[in-house]
Amino acid sequence: MFLTSTIVIENDLFVQNIQSYYIVYGGLNIADNTNKVPESSFGPYYVDEECIGCELCVDTAPKNFKMTDDGTHAYVHKQPENDSEKEMCDEALASCPVDAIGNDG
Ligand code: SF4
Repeated sequence: MFLTSTIVIENDLFVQNIQSYYIVYGGLNIADNTNKVPESSFGPYYVDEECIGCELCVDTAPKNFKMTDDGTHAYVHKQPENDSEKEMCDEALASCPVDAIGNDG
C-alpha cells in the first residue's frame, strides 16, 4: 500500500516536471494555466492565450465553450456539470490544434 502511494506521487511529480520543462523550453505545446484568457469561468477547464479562434471547441462542447464577441478566441463560459459535458470538454481539449485548452483537474 505504501509503495503504491509512493509511486503515484512520484509519477505526478514526474508529469509536472515534464510539463514545466516543455512549457519553459517550448518542446511541446501544453496549455499554460498562467496565461488564461480573461473570460474563462473559474474552474479546472480553461483556454489560454495561444487560442487561434478556430471554433472547434465551440462545435465540440457548445455548452461549455464560447467565442468572444469579436471572434478572436474561445473561452470556457461554463465548467462541465456532468459526465457528458466533461467528456465533450475532454474531447475539445484533445482536439484543439494548438493545445490551448487545459484542465487543472
Ligand atoms: S479549439 Fe483551441 S484554437 Fe480552436 S477555438 Fe478552441 S481553444 Fe481556440
